[in-house]
Amino acid sequence: MGIPTPLNWPVLRQFREGDPLGRGRAVTSRATRETSNRTVTADRVAQSVCPYCAVGCGQRVFVKDEKVVQIEGDPDSPISRGRLCPKGSASEQLVNSPTRVTQVLYRRPGGTEWEVLDRDTAIDMVADRFLESRRNGWQDHDEHGRPLRRTMGVAALGGATLDNEENYLIKKLFTAAGAVQIENQARI
Ligand code: SF4
Repeated sequence: MGIPTPLNWPVLRQFREGDPLGRGRAVTSRATRETSNRTVTADRVAQSVCPYCAVGCGQRVFVKDEKVVQIEGDPDSPISRGRLCPKGSASEQLVNSPTRVTQVLYRRPGGTEWEVLDRDTAIDMVADRFLESRRNGWQDHDEHGRPLRRTMGVAALGGATLDNEENYLIKKLFTAAGAVQIENQARI
């Protein structure tokens, strides 16, 4: 408001600033006037999909200095048309939470503590186990000699946070590997 002056008397301000009912500019605090939306100062905006549930609402991710500063609904999305539920609206907190786990944690059989693994080691361990289970559960023929060429050793169960593209790739990978039990939470 600056230096106190009778001209800043609220009722005068209401009329001077075109806000006769005192519900807008005339009663806006200085702190509010000096606050700007995080979306205004962003360097760029990326389009994305909410990771929380199978609805797959469109999101606009606002980035400043290579850091996510805000996530809002994407009006271009034919699914959500700019809307997000409270969970989707809070996605920025998912990205920037100081308690977010950003390392691969492993608790070995019989272990009582989590160990930090580098990502390549963890991926190799998953791949080794996958291949071994596939091999151990492989069925080449049935009892009549008819070809099966499948494995009963691996199965896929996806969560609803997976999107269409991820499910497509998972289905392709597991079917190619010979798995027959391939499910998604949205179908259960
Ligand atoms: S915004 Fe809500 S309804 Fe939309 S995908 Fe995310 S969690 Fe689901």
